Amino acid sequence: MGTLQLDGVTKRYGEAIAVAGVDLDIRQGELVALLGPSGCGKTTTLRMVAGFIEPTAGRVVIGGRDVTRLPPYARDTGMVFQSYALFPHMSVADNVGFGLEMRKVGRAERDRRIAEALRLVRLDALADRLPRQLSGGQQQRVALARALVVSPAVFLLDEPLSNLDAKLRSEVGLEIRELQKRLGLTTLMVTHDQDEALAMADRLVVMEHGRVLQVGSAEDLYERPANTFVAGFVGRCNLLDGAREGAGVFRLASGAAVPCAPDATARSDLAKGGQLAIRPERIEVAPDPAGTGRLRAVTYLGARTEYHLDLAGEPIVAVSPTPLPDDPRRRLVAGDPVRITWTPDAARVIPIP
Ligand code: ATP
Repeated sequence: MGTLQLDGVTKRYGEAIAVAGVDLDIRQGELVALLGPSGCGKTTTLRMVAGFIEPTAGRVVIGGRDVTRLPPYARDTGMVFQSYALFPHMSVADNVGFGLEMRKVGRAERDRRIAEALRLVRLDALADRLPRQLSGGQQQRVALARALVVSPAVFLLDEPLSNLDAKLRSEVGLEIRELQKRLGLTTLMVTHDQDEALAMADRLVVMEHGRVLQVGSAEDLYERPANTFVAGFVGRCNLLDGAREGAGVFRLASGAAVPCAPDATARSDLAKGGQLAIRPERIEVAPDPAGTGRLRAVTYLGARTEYHLDLAGEPIVAVSPTPLPDDPRRRLVAGDPVRITWTPDAARVIPIP
């Protein structure tokens, strides 16, 4: 069975701690993405699963078997490296078959599995080419085929899309996701790109300073972030300092009172104050000569428009589908007074820990 468990997995380098007791349970067929800023410990975690780095403490369990002390080749994992790491002098087919040859799989069986893996990534026509005769996207698919061909219990992807241009990135991302689902591959992926993680993963693990801050579906993290770091890292978020003041009212540091979700303010752990978290797309902006908000800039982005606003001295950003040409909001310009509103439920109060 392709399950993967991390149990208190830790890596220290002298005094420094790169990964601090990560626990994680990945189900058969699930794609989980490790997401976080540079240096948060994502790659170190992935490499401990692959067996390239030995944990200082904790266990890595694949399919119920403790593999913590096993070398990479004995772990039943297939890894796709960020750089693809293809052998430049070997054909596409030989690159894909390399792992099978190492495992002493016979010629006929090897050819059959290479052909099948190349078909899966739609490269059967290019089997005899050398890596340098392929586009970036094609090289990336060779790397995928090479990892798939050994039918690993766990599939490991290190920033799989980072070497592709923006257009190709979403295309290849969807392709990998489709393949992963179709084959039911248990997958752990590393990325610092939140769009990539949101689009591909069943669950995301947000890390900071070697620790897991929150694990959940894209919707869990976006709608119910556990803390302000997650709120700010997954999608854009306006975070406003202040404190609760009764049910449904948040007092901004600047003194202005604004609405917030009533349940959120009822939390006793808000003693030290909190931050109001509100997504740009949940904020409504309307022209209003008596409005207390002020428009600092309007950015027309085609399908959507961004409004940079001043709310009682606090800079906030709102975004909406670009209004139709006859909508009065289309005439808004920097300096205009505006009314800024949101439904209370859209604004969650996140306590300061
Ligand atoms: P990036 O997205 O930049 O690759 P990351 O989240 O993958 O970042 P890691 O590469 O896992 O982060 O590194 C986590 C921390 O451990 C960093 O602070 C890094 O400097 C440190 N670190 C990694 N490898 C070593 C090493 N061999 N010796 C000492 N410190 C290391």
